[in-house]
Amino acid sequence: MYTMKKSTTPKHPDTRLTTSGRDPEANFGIVNPPVYHASTVTFPTLAALHEAEKHKFEQVYYGRYGTPTTFAFEQAVADLEGAKHCIALPSGMAAIAVALAANVQSGDHVLITDNAYYPTLKFAHGFLAKFGVEASYFDPLVGASIGEHIRPNTKIIFAEAPGSITFEVQDIPALANAAHKAGALMVMDNTWSAGYHFKPFDHGVDISIQAATKYIVGHSDAMLGTLTTNDRTLWERAKTTAGTLGHSTGPDDCYLGLRGLRTLAVRLARHEATALKLAHWLAARPEVETVLHPALPSCPGHAIWKRDFTGSTGLFGIVLKEGPDQSAIARLLDGMELFAMGFSWGGYESLIIPADPAHVRTAYVWPYKGQTLRLHAGLEDADDLIQDLEAGLKRLNA
Ligand SMILES: *Cc1c(COP(=O)(O)O)cnc(C)c1O
Repeated sequence: MYTMKKSTTPKHPDTRLTTSGRDPEANFGIVNPPVYHASTVTFPTLAALHEAEKHKFEQVYYGRYGTPTTFAFEQAVADLEGAKHCIALPSGMAAIAVALAANVQSGDHVLITDNAYYPTLKFAHGFLAKFGVEASYFDPLVGASIGEHIRPNTKIIFAEAPGSITFEVQDIPALANAAHKAGALMVMDNTWSAGYHFKPFDHGVDISIQAATKYIVGHSDAMLGTLTTNDRTLWERAKTTAGTLGHSTGPDDCYLGLRGLRTLAVRLARHEATALKLAHWLAARPEVETVLHPALPSCPGHAIWKRDFTGSTGLFGIVLKEGPDQSAIARLLDGMELFAMGFSWGGYESLIIPADPAHVRTAYVWPYKGQTLRLHAGLEDADDLIQDLEAGLKRLNA
């Protein structure tokens, strides 16, 4: 039977993406871990039952806490982000909700970046508020001045860098430093970088979450979330909260997440190259007011991206010049051939969607009047995508 040799030298992250979480020795030599479906797990003796209870978070105990398929996926994501611990959750939103809910109680305050994924903001003011937790939002470019927003009862600073609609890149080390000085936790939504181009625990983050639905699954066919941390207490607290809320992450979805990780590095390289090509092409178009791509100097927080990230991915935004009315925007969007309109992103297919940042910002004024569009560069040929965009801009002008 084939045994995976224990690594004796440190391996490149791309190598580890192909090896982490594999255990062929335990699975007849088969390369991939099988999909274990389980609710009941049986114990031969009373002593074994009590022993299993003590280790219920890291061994097979009951279906809701995971099966060997879950654990393999969690191990690989922890390795990707440079964490000791990971929890697979049924969606990115579940990971956000668990990270927040596990670490606050009535009377506490959380500070969230104003450009976060909107359901994150809504979870804070629409759900946590019911339990006496207050939320306020900060300008994503606040940097070290975050201290002015911290209150004696602030327990969490929550960042999403770059924000997935408007792409401002936050200064995570500055936020983390202020959080730790105040005894608060630094929590980050790391979905844009896929955990590949930003290593949260090298920059002071305590808990990182991802919508693995996006790049990790990578094929638009499963919902999945991850929560990683280096702190065992935070991990146990999150595990307990996830279990108490009844979260159970499907083993088939963990399998798809694990399979996605094997090709993450090559897919991201292509997403990055195509998105950069499209972003530069769009920046030169007369219809475009600005391009919101962290790797372009026009993006707020570009210098921080350059300092802290090792690359970019396929998701970026543009703001059109003021002028075209909604029927012109509809002509542009309705006629797209390759860019589909739809939520989510991170799959192999290109997407385009209108956004309305002015109506959700509360901590600062959105400076643009023109239509904001969010694009996801898929794995299609970049020149075909440019042709699609060019035809769209022609319809916009028609
Ligand atoms: C999609 C997304 C989420 C939510 O993930 P789901 O798996 O759809 O619940 C969270 N954060 C960001 C940045 C996202 O893009």
